[in-house]
Amino acid sequence: MTDCIARVAVSAPLHSLFDYAIPADMQLDVGVRVRVSFGRTRVIGVVVAMAGGSDCASARIKPVEAVLDDEPLLGRDDLEFLIWAAGYYHHPVGEVIMAALPLRLRKAESAALPGAAGWMLTPAGALQAATPPARAPRQAEVLRWLVTRPDGAASYAQLRSALPDGTAALRALCDRGWVIRTTLEARPDRAILDSPGLALNDDQAAVVAALRDDLGGFAVALLDGVTGSGKTEVYLQLAAEVLRRGRSVLVLVPEISLTPQLFERFHRRLGDTVRMLHSGLGETEREHAWHRLHLGLSRVLLGTRSSIFTPIADLGLVLVDEEHDPSFKQTEGFRYSARDLAIVRGQRANCPVVLGSATPSLESLRNAAAGRYRHLRMDRRAGGALSPRVDLLDIRDQPLQCGMSQPLLDRVASVLKGGEQVMLFLNRRGFAPVLSCFSCGWLSDCPRCDARQTVHRASGLLWCHHCGAQHRVPQACPECGAHDLHPLGQGTEQLEGFLAERFAGYPLIRLDRDATARKGSLQALLDRLHAAEAAILVGTQMLAKGHHFPRVTLVGVLDADGGLYSADFRATERMAQLLVQVAGRAGRGDRPGHVLIQTRYPDHPLLQTLVRQGYRAFADAALQERQSAGLPPYSHQALLRADATGLASAQAFVGRLSQALEEAGHPGVEVWGPVPAPMTRRAGRHRVHLLFQARQRDVLHALLRTLPALAGQLPESKRVRWSLDVDPADLF
Ligand code: ADP
Ligand code: ZN
Ligand code: ZN
Repeated sequence: MTDCIARVAVSAPLHSLFDYAIPADMQLDVGVRVRVSFGRTRVIGVVVAMAGGSDCASARIKPVEAVLDDEPLLGRDDLEFLIWAAGYYHHPVGEVIMAALPLRLRKAESAALPGAAGWMLTPAGALQAATPPARAPRQAEVLRWLVTRPDGAASYAQLRSALPDGTAALRALCDRGWVIRTTLEARPDRAILDSPGLALNDDQAAVVAALRDDLGGFAVALLDGVTGSGKTEVYLQLAAEVLRRGRSVLVLVPEISLTPQLFERFHRRLGDTVRMLHSGLGETEREHAWHRLHLGLSRVLLGTRSSIFTPIADLGLVLVDEEHDPSFKQTEGFRYSARDLAIVRGQRANCPVVLGSATPSLESLRNAAAGRYRHLRMDRRAGGALSPRVDLLDIRDQPLQCGMSQPLLDRVASVLKGGEQVMLFLNRRGFAPVLSCFSCGWLSDCPRCDARQTVHRASGLLWCHHCGAQHRVPQACPECGAHDLHPLGQGTEQLEGFLAERFAGYPLIRLDRDATARKGSLQALLDRLHAAEAAILVGTQMLAKGHHFPRVTLVGVLDADGGLYSADFRATERMAQLLVQVAGRAGRGDRPGHVLIQTRYPDHPLLQTLVRQGYRAFADAALQERQSAGLPPYSHQALLRADATGLASAQAFVGRLSQALEEAGHPGVEVWGPVPAPMTRRAGRHRVHLLFQARQRDVLHALLRTLPALAGQLPESKRVRWSLDVDPADLF
C-alpha cells in the first residue's frame, strides 16, 4: 500500500501531530516542509511520518496544499530526537520541531541550500549596492537584498519568495554586469587536520587517551578539571581526532559572551570548518551555518543551548563546556536542559559525550559515582600556574564602606601598589537594591511583583529586574513627599563610583549586564583590562564565566551569604560554583592568586568545607545532605506552575488539580502543594506551585502525562495559565 497520509507537525500548543492527505501527483518525503490549512488559517509544518491510513474519518482529512522543499530539512534521526525531547519535557511536539528550524524557514521562505542554482552579486554589483541606481528602484531593491545574503548570493527559489516580481530587474542587472548566475557555495569548508596542538601534560595525555578509546560509540565522560587545567586543549585535540575520522563535533557553551573567545581558539586550530550559532548572530548567518552543518560541509558547531537541536551530519562527538552552568536550562516555554539532551543526542548518534567543568553539577558527580559516567580528573593547572589561596573574612563586627571591610580595602591598596590587578565580585547590578524614604519608611516596591525595584543611577531609573518595569527615580517620596530618599545596600554601579574615588588614578573596569549591553563593549572592556598594569575589575557573575584575567592576583568576594540560607535547595551549590569559578580567574600567570571572601557566617559548615577542602569535598557533603533529604539527584522532580491575575484563582486551580490527582491515586510520586511561589506576585500575576517528586522517573512521567486531560476538565483551568517544568533548575 502506498503512503497516502502525511503526519505533520505544526507550531501549535497541542500535543499531537496532524494527518493530511497526500494528493496523488505530489512527491514528498519525511523532513520536508509543507503548507497545510489548519483551523481557519494556512500554516507551515514539517512532515514527520507517512502512513497508509489515518485514524481520523477520511471526510475530515484535508490535503497537503504545497511542498516547500525538494530535500528534507530534518532527517529521520533528527525528528526522532525532537519527538523524544517533546515527550520528555511534555511540550507540544509541533512547537519543538518548528523551533528547531531557522527562523525564516518556519515561514514559507525557501531554503538557501548549498548547491542550488541562483544569482550572485559581482564585485562591481557589490559596490553598486552601497549607492544603488536611484532611477531603477526595483534593481536597487534587488541589490540591497542580495548584499545581505552570505556571499551576496541567493537561490532562484529564495529570490522568488523574497522579491516575487524581481525577475526583470535581475535580468537588467545581469546585463549591466552587476549580478551573475551561480551555484550556491557547496564546497566543504577547509579543515585543519594535522595541527599538532600543545604538548600535553601527563594528566591531559591520560584523559585524551581514555576519551579516544571511547570515540567508537556512545559513552559519557565527566571531565572534572580545575580552572586552567587545560580542558579546552583536550577538547581541541579530541575534536581534531574526530575530524580526521571524517565525522562532526558539537560543542555546547553556556553564554554568548564566551562564544567568541572559544570560537577563536577552535577556529585557529581547526580551520574554517568551525561554525558558530548563538542568538547574537544575524538570521542569515545562522541559517547559513545550519545548512552547512546539516549537509556536512562544515564539521564543527560551537553554540549555545539551542544548538543541541541543529541537525549535524555524521555527529561523532558532543562536548558540553561548563556543564554545571544553569543557562543550559531554558526557563521559559520549552523548558529543556541542553546538557541533559546532549546525552540523549549522543546515545542516538552512537557517539561519546564529554561534560567538562571545574565545578561539576551534583547531578553529574552523582552519575559518575554511580558508574554511569566515566570520571576523568585534572587537578593541576596546565602551564604551571599556581592555585589560589582562599580565606574567609569575618565581617560580623566590621564597619563596611560600600560593602567593603577595612582589611579588604587594605589588601586592594597594597596589591595595586605592587602593580597587579584586583577583581571584586558583587553579584548585584545597578546602584542599590532598594530606595527608601527615611521620613515615612516607603520602599521602592515594584507595583507588579513581590520584589523591590533596583536603583540605577546612571540611567536615573527604578528598575524591577523581575518584570522589567522601569520608572524614573522620584525626586521626592511618592508616599509622604519628603525629600528624604536614600539608596540602601549596594550594587556594582555604586561600588564602581566608590572605588573610583578611593583609588583614583587606577584604571577601573565594570563587567555586568548594564556595562556590556552594547555589542562589542565587552571586548573593549576586556582589551582595556589586558592592556593595563595595576587595575580594578568590578563585576557580577559575568566575572565567573570563562574569561582569563592573568594579571589578577587578588579576588575579593563582597558577599557570599546570599546563597547560604535560601528557599531553593540548589542555592548553596550555585554559590559554591560561583565562588570557585570566580576564584579560578586569579593568578593564572606566574603569580599566585589570593581570594578573600567576606561573610557573616564564617562557621557555616558547607562554606568551611568549600574553603578548607575545596569543591570536591563540598560536593560530597552537599550530596550527602541531598541524599538524606531525598532531594535530586536522589529523586526526580517536576514543577507545575500556575498563574492568574488573582491569587485565589491560581490557588483554586492547583488545589482542585491536586485533589483530582489524590482521587486518581499516584503511587510512587509525592505531590506537594498548592504552595505560593517564593515570589508569589510577578509581573502582575499571582503564582502557585505544585511540586512532584519521585524516586523513579517512569512513574513521575506517567503522572505528568495525565495532567493536560485532568487540568482541561477543571472549570478552574479557564482562569489560569499553567506550565510544566521537568527537572526544574530552580523552584522560583
Ligand atoms: P581550562 O579550559 O581547563 O580552563 P585551558 O585549556 O584554557 O584550561 O588552559 C589554561 C591555560 O593553560 C591556557 O593558557 C592554555 O594555553 C595553557 N595550556 C593548556 N594545556 C597546556 C599544555 N599542555 N602545555 C602548556 N600550556 C597549556
Ligand atoms: Zn516618605
Ligand atoms: Zn516587577
